[in-house]
Amino acid sequence: MKEKITCAVCPMACVIDVSLKDGDLLVEGNRCGRGYQFVKKHFEQEDRIVAGRCLLSGGQMSRLPVSTNMKIPAHHVEKALEIIQNTRIQAPVKRGQVIIENILETGADVISQRKAL
Ligand code: SF4
Repeated sequence: MKEKITCAVCPMACVIDVSLKDGDLLVEGNRCGRGYQFVKKHFEQEDRIVAGRCLLSGGQMSRLPVSTNMKIPAHHVEKALEIIQNTRIQAPVKRGQVIIENILETGADVISQRKAL
């Protein structure tokens, strides 16, 4: 596992390379220890189901409630929400329909929480 996380602790916004090796967190690109703590906290948080609303075209409402069908790692939650909020889908939509497959390669699909005509 390797990914980039932007540190949000100060305006420098360091892009930190993070990888896991044998269960150890390897961190590069942080300019200070607060960046390491920021990344560590991200990875220590529990996995979560993500719920949000994507854009709906041609329906009776402008937003469609959706959620992941399984928990995803906490450090992906913010990005997943951003993707969901910027995804546009065309009505009609069935309840349980897959809206986004394998979001952020987590293995979770984002599915519709209700029918939209
Ligand atoms: S790693 Fe340190 S310098 Fe870089 S954004 Fe985070 S707090 Fe600021």
